[in-house]
Amino acid sequence: MGLADQNRFINAAALFETALDPDELLETLLGIEKSFGRVRTIKWGPRTLDLDILYYGNRRVASPRLTIPHPLMHERLFVLVPLVEIDPCWVHPVLGLSVEEMLDRLAGTDHGQEIEKVDI
Ligand code: ADP
Ligand code: MG
Repeated sequence: MGLADQNRFINAAALFETALDPDELLETLLGIEKSFGRVRTIKWGPRTLDLDILYYGNRRVASPRLTIPHPLMHERLFVLVPLVEIDPCWVHPVLGLSVEEMLDRLAGTDHGQEIEKVDI
């Protein structure tokens, strides 16, 4: 999404408990991206690894470096399709819609996104 002229890439969602607060979690994820050799070049361009926080329970965070829930999660099939498999009933604290409902809405619009489900 964003930049179309690039190789295909794999998206996945994971659900976990953590003792880290949102800022500490972001720091940790950025450190993991770095350890995988991520270099930030063009926005939305090819990257080795991109770890985003989609949500953190029903907390809301709006700081210069962190927005939770992720502001574009409800517009992205590549987020909602893997997420609905593991947490369909989570309700977005701002939109008031479950993952399943967000996916139904997006699937019914001409979003111009192409995804393919693969087993990895
Ligand atoms: P993107 O994920 O939007 O393609 P980046 O991975 O380069 O872009 O992220 C840029 C910055 O976005 C991060 O350094 C981080 O400070 C900020 N950011 C804001 N909200 C979030 C979030 N929910 N999850 C991850 N990063 C976030
Ligand atoms: Mg990111």
